[in-house]
Amino acid sequence: MRGFLHEIDLCRQLGIRAMVVHCGSRPQRDKGIRMASQAIDHALKESDISILLENSAGQGHGIGRNIVELFEIYQGIENHERVSLCLDTAHLFASGYDIRAREVWDALIREVDGRFGPHKIGLFHLNDSKTDLGSKADRHWHIGTGKIGLHAFRDIINDLRFRNLMGVMETPKVDSMDEENMKTMKSLLSPLMSRSFS
Ligand SMILES: [Zn+2]
Repeated sequence: MRGFLHEIDLCRQLGIRAMVVHCGSRPQRDKGIRMASQAIDHALKESDISILLENSAGQGHGIGRNIVELFEIYQGIENHERVSLCLDTAHLFASGYDIRAREVWDALIREVDGRFGPHKIGLFHLNDSKTDLGSKADRHWHIGTGKIGLHAFRDIINDLRFRNLMGVMETPKVDSMDEENMKTMKSLLSPLMSRSFS
């Protein structure tokens, strides 16, 4: 909690308006969810920052491993105006969502909209996964060369519902792979889309 509040304070000093939050890790799930809600509630009251809740891979006792858990955290927060979601593709895949299948992706988005309401996805973390579907292991990998694959990323980044949303890649920092990943991503993007990546 103290570390989290320190980060909020740093954001304020640096003029950063939004922060992506991992929901933490606790052996007692319910307690972990309650603590995450309380910490975020406190941060929202103490500052004018916006919070994006990020889904986890479900590694260890990681909280926020699926939409239901993220929603439980969300429900424990008093004021939702400045709270939205950051969906990480590698975490989704590792936690068991087979986002290679279009119908799974669509069902996921429907579930998010149904629970949180429309326009609550604020950001995507676009990472391929080195580990298998449902592995619960958080291993980001280069776009198109992991278990998620190019085909799925083409579908995901060209989803018109997210035409203007930014995507952030958190792929491993080796050699010149950042440029390579950016090139791959841009090559998959349809000219109809105005998305940007970093
Ligand atoms: Zn992420």
